[in-house]
Amino acid sequence: MLINKDQIQRYSGQINLKKISIEGQKKIIDSKILIIGAGGLGTPALTYLARSGIENIAIVDSDKISLSNLHRQILYDKKDVGKYKVDISKKKILQVNPKIKVKIYKKKITKSNIKSIAKPYDIVLDGTDNFKSKLEINDYCKKNKKILILGAISRFVGQLFVFNFKNKKLNSPCLRCFMPKAPENEHADCQAEGIIGTVAGTIGTLMANEAIKEILSFPYSLCGKILILDLEKTIFRLIDLKNNCKNHK
Ligand SMILES: [Zn+2]
Repeated sequence: MLINKDQIQRYSGQINLKKISIEGQKKIIDSKILIIGAGGLGTPALTYLARSGIENIAIVDSDKISLSNLHRQILYDKKDVGKYKVDISKKKILQVNPKIKVKIYKKKITKSNIKSIAKPYDIVLDGTDNFKSKLEINDYCKKNKKILILGAISRFVGQLFVFNFKNKKLNSPCLRCFMPKAPENEHADCQAEGIIGTVAGTIGTLMANEAIKEILSFPYSLCGKILILDLEKTIFRLIDLKNNCKNHK
């Protein structure tokens, strides 16, 4: 693809980074990203990815915006309450860059609909709020060799995972290596047990950061590790995640 003058100006901050340059910026513009969940994780991820130059974005979420979402779901304002999250997300990112091709799905992701929704996208960002969906998304991405970037948040704590199933050499672990099945008494959502907005914002922003790193094939991938952060104590920890579930045998 060719990059035009407007794009060079718009992305000059990134292009000036030697590790990105015009070639890297073209890769960012060309990549295709699916964001599942337009909530506390999805909205910061979406705004940074849209601003970074990605021009193909799909968003899946069945929910409408409620007043209690506003403390952490940063694309939405008071006047958006009652409207569908995907409609407002699309409107807001088109205000940033009208060239973005945005596809929206007003539905919950399921084992059966993920195949047709996710097929065209290279990278899947999982910002859902339950491990049942996360494991289904994980299984699809593993089988279909996608790059999966996954965030999980609760109270003051956040977790970030990158699974690069596309690059065979990485022999990526998967979410089932960390959690073989969903906990039986999984809470309905993070709202009920409490969540500080800044945890969502930090993990969501890091999800966008890791997506950009994977697009650019940076050598320092988070694949094979888990980042755990505790924003009550301001502690960030990186731990190894071994490739050890029965999926890999
Ligand atoms: Zn596994």
